[in-house]
Amino acid sequence: MSKRDYYEVLGISEGSSKDEIKKAYRKLARKYHPDVNKEEDAADKFKEAKEAYEVLSDEQKRAQYDQFGHAGTQNQGFGGGAQDFSGGFGDIFDMFFGGGRSRDPNAPQQGADLQYTMTLTFEEAISGKETDINIPKEENCDTCNGSGAKPGTKVNTCSHCNGAGQLNQEQNTPFGRVVNRRVCHHCSGSGKTIQEKCNTCGGAGKVKKHNKIHITIPAGIDEGQQIRVAGKGDAGVNGGPPGDLFVLIQVTPHDFFEREGDHIYCELPLNYAQAALGDEVEVPTVHGKVMLKVPAGTQSGKNFRMRGKGAPNVRGYGHGDQHIIVKIVTPTKLTDRQKELLREFNEIGGNESTNEQDNSIFQRFKNAFKSE
Ligand SMILES: [Zn+2]
Ligand SMILES: [Zn+2]
Repeated sequence: MSKRDYYEVLGISEGSSKDEIKKAYRKLARKYHPDVNKEEDAADKFKEAKEAYEVLSDEQKRAQYDQFGHAGTQNQGFGGGAQDFSGGFGDIFDMFFGGGRSRDPNAPQQGADLQYTMTLTFEEAISGKETDINIPKEENCDTCNGSGAKPGTKVNTCSHCNGAGQLNQEQNTPFGRVVNRRVCHHCSGSGKTIQEKCNTCGGAGKVKKHNKIHITIPAGIDEGQQIRVAGKGDAGVNGGPPGDLFVLIQVTPHDFFEREGDHIYCELPLNYAQAALGDEVEVPTVHGKVMLKVPAGTQSGKNFRMRGKGAPNVRGYGHGDQHIIVKIVTPTKLTDRQKELLREFNEIGGNESTNEQDNSIFQRFKNAFKSE
């Protein structure tokens, strides 16, 4: 089990004064004291707060903790001169201080991940796309090969740390002999001093560059999905691997297609005559136009499912379906001739049908509102 940070346990900041530490502890002690609080985890919380207070209220212990984390308060490993830390101990330290407060500034570190948002049209998301994107990212400076020194000038080994980038200080403490290791301020941990800074990068050794990266967008990608391009993030530090590039996909809405997973929905407007008599109409799909047979007597809201005419599955598992939803459109402006025909239709019994079921729908409605 990993131990919680003592400051976190007491709910205070690292810069808290002695008084604030005391106050915070008293508050918790009152709250979790096993005599008062009968909750199951109260005793553990009380113990945790007590331990945090014991360390943070003691100036020396607190300094140890600030420097080394929990390892600094446990008098193990590096105490009593039992271990020799005189050289090449990077790995041992990392092991001891994993999750602690001290990090090796010279250890290889992975570069930062980058995120790029790409907006696709509806069709592009369906069909996929090959494209190049330009992203700014950190790379080693070409002029100085990452050294930060002006070409032709000397790079010296730092005389303060002899090139180690860090200084070791031995200290005798109540926990035994402790090696206190800190970044060398003279060379900022690089172990080298530069006579003249490189003009291109100003001595940083790194420059922001626009990088052209080829991206393959798989067919069927959808809004909110991400493509990971391994190793295309920022350059690593101290020889560490580069970060990754994440391309976040946004898709602009389509005029009449709507997507839900691999299925595509689309409304089909029909007039009353087409719906009543049946028709054959051309409907759009993302795979091109398709003829759809609308049977006579089609109702508004009817869903025609066209198997396999939806979006391709982004992982390659076939295609979704296309759903065509019928919407009967009532005309708002009619010519005189259309009016004449519709009036005639109504007069010969527009609500009547040769299907008894249809008639009963109109009849039930009439009966429902009959007075008395
Ligand atoms: Zn440079
Ligand atoms: Zn140095």
